[in-house]
Amino acid sequence: MSEPKFKVSALKFRPQRFSEVVSQEFVSTTLKNAILNKKIAHSYLFSGPRGVGKTTLARIFAKAINCQNQKDGEPCNECENCSEITRGVHPDVFELDAASNRGIDDVRAIQDAAKYFPLKATYKFFIVDEVHMLTIQAFNALLKILEEPPEYLIFILATTNPEKIPATITSRCQRFALHRLKIKEISEQLKFVAKEQKVKIDDESLFLISKLGDGALRDALGIFDMAVSFCGDNIDYKSLKEFLNLPDKEIYFLTSQHIAGGDLKNAISYFNELEENGLDIITFYNGITDHYRNLLIIKTTDNVELLDESDITKAKYREEAKTYSSDQIQRILKVLIESESRFKYSSNQKILMESMLAELCRINREIVDLSELISGLEALKKKSQT
Ligand SMILES: [Zn+2]
Repeated sequence: MSEPKFKVSALKFRPQRFSEVVSQEFVSTTLKNAILNKKIAHSYLFSGPRGVGKTTLARIFAKAINCQNQKDGEPCNECENCSEITRGVHPDVFELDAASNRGIDDVRAIQDAAKYFPLKATYKFFIVDEVHMLTIQAFNALLKILEEPPEYLIFILATTNPEKIPATITSRCQRFALHRLKIKEISEQLKFVAKEQKVKIDDESLFLISKLGDGALRDALGIFDMAVSFCGDNIDYKSLKEFLNLPDKEIYFLTSQHIAGGDLKNAISYFNELEENGLDIITFYNGITDHYRNLLIIKTTDNVELLDESDITKAKYREEAKTYSSDQIQRILKVLIESESRFKYSSNQKILMESMLAELCRINREIVDLSELISGLEALKKKSQT
């Protein structure tokens, strides 16, 4: 059978060695050391958000332990055990998705399989994904195996919701909490994937896709694949935004300039223009709140690196921050945050947004007036002293 022409990037570029796993160094190192020192536990619990590498690490671990030419705790990816695990056909490595196989019978099948020695491998592996979905009876059956596991058995339980797993189970596992990936880590991997696929992509687009991945490399790669099918092998920021149907950051900078100038007339007419062109008001609300949060960070820390934004946008924020005092930004953010629940329940979000814009413009004018008044008073004081 020939290979399918198109293979999704998340599968095609799935790491096959610990050293290829993006981030999660703590988990990789600990597992490698366990192999090298032959201190293997019988059950592990990998928790963390979706798409951060839980089952990928589980498979690499299964390979590294059973590899016939294992070196420095890494699998060779060439021997029979390695290649069969990679292809998902190894007779001693089982994967169960507990989201769709959550009942007692599914765990009984594991119980039965666990009774027999491994056929080829040193260790028999059971990788149970989304383990929190198991029923109580299934958990009880699982517990029976975990209480007295045969020497050759290793369980890797993976979950996005560790708090839903009974304590009797978790207390028997060695636990690893995997974390969300940083935007930079995702964008570096995307850059690599793009290069391998001979796709041209600009930095702004790389950044945007990484950000939309929300900490999950798998999700970012999924968006990347869709972008490739839309834009072809040359992804530029403008067509990407069109494809994703996202408003330009520019609209928040413009709105913020109107607010900074206390210019209610232009703030309202600009907002109306956006709304008539199909802008979603909640998206706009979230965007403008994010915008002032970024300004607050720059104003208080003077460190643009803390912003989850591209370099071009960071520079823009640095400039924009100069037009506000930190007091102004704080008061604007307070109004925005306090309005959040009102937005959710409002039957007329448009009016609510307009009145909020009016308030933001007013705050800015008031503070400007106040600071002008203070500096005027100070000048007067100086004058009277001289
Ligand atoms: Zn191998």
